[in-house]
Amino acid sequence: MKTSTISQSAYSTFIDHVEAQQVNHVVIKPSRLEYSLKDEFGAQKFYTKAEQNRADLIKVLTTNQVTYTISAQNSEDTASLIAMLLSTGVLVGAFAWLTKLAGAGAGGGIGGIGLGKSKARVYEQGKTGVKFADVAGVAEAKQELQEVVDFLQNGAKYKQIGAKIPKGVLLVGAPGTGKTLLAKAVAGEAGVPFLSMSASEFVEVYVGVGASRVRDLFAQAKRQAPCIIFIDELDAIGKSRGNNPNGGNDEREQTLNQLLTEMDGFEGNEGVILIAATNRPEILDPALRRPGRFDRQVLVDRPDKKGRIEILQVHSQKVILGEDVDLTLIAGQTSGFAGADLANLVNEAALMAARNNRQAVLMADFSEAMERIIAGLEKRSRILTDTERKTVAYHEVGHALVGALMPGGSKVTKISIVPRGLGALGYTLQMPEEDRFLMLEDELRGQIATLLGGRAAEEVVFKKVSTGASDDIQKATELAEKAITQYGMSKDLGPIAFAKENSQFLNNSTSRRSVGGEVATKIDRLVKNNIDQAHQMARKILELNRELLESTTQILLDREVLDGAQLTQILDQAKAPEGMQEWLLPQ
Ligand code: ADP
Ligand code: ZN
Repeated sequence: MKTSTISQSAYSTFIDHVEAQQVNHVVIKPSRLEYSLKDEFGAQKFYTKAEQNRADLIKVLTTNQVTYTISAQNSEDTASLIAMLLSTGVLVGAFAWLTKLAGAGAGGGIGGIGLGKSKARVYEQGKTGVKFADVAGVAEAKQELQEVVDFLQNGAKYKQIGAKIPKGVLLVGAPGTGKTLLAKAVAGEAGVPFLSMSASEFVEVYVGVGASRVRDLFAQAKRQAPCIIFIDELDAIGKSRGNNPNGGNDEREQTLNQLLTEMDGFEGNEGVILIAATNRPEILDPALRRPGRFDRQVLVDRPDKKGRIEILQVHSQKVILGEDVDLTLIAGQTSGFAGADLANLVNEAALMAARNNRQAVLMADFSEAMERIIAGLEKRSRILTDTERKTVAYHEVGHALVGALMPGGSKVTKISIVPRGLGALGYTLQMPEEDRFLMLEDELRGQIATLLGGRAAEEVVFKKVSTGASDDIQKATELAEKAITQYGMSKDLGPIAFAKENSQFLNNSTSRRSVGGEVATKIDRLVKNNIDQAHQMARKILELNRELLESTTQILLDREVLDGAQLTQILDQAKAPEGMQEWLLPQ
């Protein structure tokens, strides 16, 4: 073929060519890039080593409006391709590469397919060049990870004083929230190498290979210390071992055991810190979370509106924005978008603008791009309709307003309507003023009313209810039942511990008596009474404070998160309805 006419160029030359708008088209291959210059610049063909992260590369290409194709084949020459595949190492590499392509947008490395060296491909080596400034909207996570940067930079300081540096940090959050980016930024800030591997790649390959790859990974990390090992999708190997009724997956278990062994085999002070990411922490094998392993957990949340503005700003730095573009407005319309969705949005809008031969990206491009992306996301059911969003907002404010008037530990400290994925559409956070081990009767009553405040708000505002309160109702019922059967908070029945047949409270108890017909009926009636009263009280509160309910909901819909002083200030205005104090007293 025409390989003879292709000459090699340095990667920096390639970038120069791209930025000078001289490049016609780029073919991205696993180990190299091939490109040709435009006719007016001689139409010459070059190849260069692919050194950059694929996502970054594509960003550069799109910014400069260079077309590209991605090819899974390394060479057009079939004979040499077959020769290459004969080496198992490369075969594995090629498979993994293809899967990477299938999971488009994963932004994996394209550098370093070492011929015959299977393990080289999966590590993205070298300094990442990513800084904390590139990650936006996740201030808390950044703050916690800042400490890890210090461990890496000033290991000696900790060693000297005899402090044990943690070995493993688990990043927990929905896909695309920036976990990988954060891990890279830690390496970038500390200026240390970043070795990364996706856990699914450990187990995709042949039996026994997973464990040996883990071994290699750690061996390599120790040679490069201080450094970061990043394991993406930890749940792929870290699933709880006891959970599989059809017998375990031997390959996965071997790999997991090897990982545990490796983690126990070094000290954090050796300068290797493991960062792993998962969106399903609940299925992880508990052994992974033991002290000395992944004992630190950092939540990487979906961004709130303010966070989304920041992320949009980061990503639109590299594109030319038209004057009519209002990032705050866009942020307001993209509730539920993760960082990756927003990055994608900016890029789609830029593509749209380029396709329309515009000099800058206009608001219209953003709108069009948004529609496309939302259509895609809705299939994964993550985006709320406007009505749903409103319902969730009223519901959460309902909890907060009722809680504001209740004694003790029912005060609400944060409300959010940023969707969490996996079911929760919004949440309300209650933080007791101090650690409480005892709850007084009035507080318990208040707690029940607070739980029912969400449902009550839906009733007051919409005159109909959603399914969103099922968890609240469950909790309220449990609490009301416990008040009577365990805490003896009923004058009628007195301080006797009861348990109904089949009650979950029976589990670890020997001292409770089973009850028969009459008492059981009485308990049921009392529980129902308590719930009804709390429910009525919650409604009364919200009806009396209807205006505050409205205005607070509007603020929440706008900002998506309310906490701290903002929230206190609003809630301090809540008025108590008649009869509330009496209702709180023991009955
Ligand atoms: P995760 O590992 O959580 O699935 P990634 O870190 O791979 O997510 O995110 C994919 C891409 O989305 C990043 O490379 C970045 O371009 C963009 N992105 C995601 N989260 C953020 C964020 N918080 N700030 C800026 N960009 C982000
Ligand atoms: Zn609720």
